[in-house]
Amino acid sequence: MLEIKNLMVKAKGTNKTILKDFSLSIGKGEIHAIMGPNGVGKSTLSKVIMAHPNYEVIEGSITFLQQDLKDLSTDERARLGIYYVMQDPSTIEGVTNSECLRTALRERTGEPVNLYQFIQEMNTNLKALKMDKNMIHRSINQGFSGGEKKKNEVLQLKMLKPKLILLDELDSGLDVDSLKIVCQNIKEYLQENKDTSVLLITHYSRILDLIKPDYVHEMLHGTIVKTGDIRLAKEIEKNGYSGENEGSEKDDGE
Ligand code: ADP
Ligand code: MG
Repeated sequence: MLEIKNLMVKAKGTNKTILKDFSLSIGKGEIHAIMGPNGVGKSTLSKVIMAHPNYEVIEGSITFLQQDLKDLSTDERARLGIYYVMQDPSTIEGVTNSECLRTALRERTGEPVNLYQFIQEMNTNLKALKMDKNMIHRSINQGFSGGEKKKNEVLQLKMLKPKLILLDELDSGLDVDSLKIVCQNIKEYLQENKDTSVLLITHYSRILDLIKPDYVHEMLHGTIVKTGDIRLAKEIEKNGYSGENEGSEKDDGE
């Protein structure tokens, strides 16, 4: 599904190397968790997968379903079926949720959207996510609480039906009840779409009790330093990250 090889990434216009010799392979239907302290490059990784303009790939490659993503723009990557649940979802004034979703859906499928089906599906999902129906007629994320923004991301995900889901700290800004609802919705989606893969980025192992990963990777200083299963997450929870006392936000000054 996703193959990342020896990736080296810099923040554009700076000398700061954020990802170094980063490799990761995710198969169909697999759930991979990446755990790491603040500032090790977790969000950068997901942004680079989505071709965020602030980052520059210096070396290495990313392939998705055997296709090199190198020259593809963000929207082309999304069309292929990658969906990124942002750590801090953006607010877009003047574009309603419903308009945005309908347009995105049409672009994703390449077919006109059947309005009746769309509304039915939207209502089912709003209910499952315990979201207020009026939210779909409001500007995207405008005035939404942290939890509502994340629910909105998962609503879009369920409508757009991606093949690869990038979850960047889904648990941040969510209270325990909302986290449960959101995870339940993702799990249901995965049950109905068994080929869909997940890259789940988190600080805390708590979310891994709700969405059980097949693999857990520990990330430090821009690369994966250890790979295991859920036991690695428990170990990190108990003993902290490897060499954590060295300081994770160390600037490499290259
Ligand atoms: P994480 O998600 O693991 O907390 P990030 O990927 O957000 O970490 O950031 C990794 C490091 O790269 C941090 O030190 C951050 O300050 C730095 N960084 C991220 N984006 C940029 C940027 N656009 N310009 C300069 N430095 C950046
Ligand atoms: Mg982050």
